[in-house]
Amino acid sequence: RNSCVSDSSDSVISSGSDSDGQVYKVVLLGEHGVGKSSLARIFGGVEDSSDCEETGNTYDRSLVVDDEETSILLYDVWEQDNSQWLKDQCMRMGDAYIIVYSVTDKSSFEKASELRIQLRRARQSENIPIILVGNKSDLVRSREVSVDEGSACAVVFDCKFIETSASLHHNVRDLFEGIVRQIRLRKDSKEE
Ligand code: GDP
Ligand code: MG
Repeated sequence: RNSCVSDSSDSVISSGSDSDGQVYKVVLLGEHGVGKSSLARIFGGVEDSSDCEETGNTYDRSLVVDDEETSILLYDVWEQDNSQWLKDQCMRMGDAYIIVYSVTDKSSFEKASELRIQLRRARQSENIPIILVGNKSDLVRSREVSVDEGSACAVVFDCKFIETSASLHHNVRDLFEGIVRQIRLRKDSKEE
């Protein structure tokens, strides 16, 4: 195993916590090849290790957003194995979800809708923060899904939407800041 990837057990142990001692679990979902691991590595600050062919990882980081610190555990484990157990576990454990598709792959976009439906079914009464992500926005010439299609889908599914390019690091920070803000919003509305 490559040394450039952090092992999930390590990061769970070393996880920090924010002011109320809570660490939020954010789970990446999406078809193979859409860029989940690339986005996760940028989040984890190990983006230069693109030649790692890892099978599953967890990244632990605190983000300061709007002058407040929040601890996030990012799970890139959706494709770790093909067991139904793992898929079910992923659907259950997240405090928030990032559903990724590639703008160059229409079928990954359709898969993203499926995942949104599955998630809604698994967590029926909960109002979980979800961000729909159209990645690979740099590949202009092979685009198959327009920005409008992406944002329309997000409206239907009642979630946030952003296009990113992991390759160019475009909007990746906005994505993770966005998920932190979403988590805080839901948290605050629960406490009222
Ligand atoms: P995963 O299977 O969802 O984890 O996807 P990976 O992160 O492994 O990415 C799959 C392939 O797409 C890799 O070759 C990446 O280098 C490439 N890739 C990921 N994000 C982008 C992006 O934003 N733009 C481009 N052009 N390629 C990307
Ligand atoms: Mg991957």
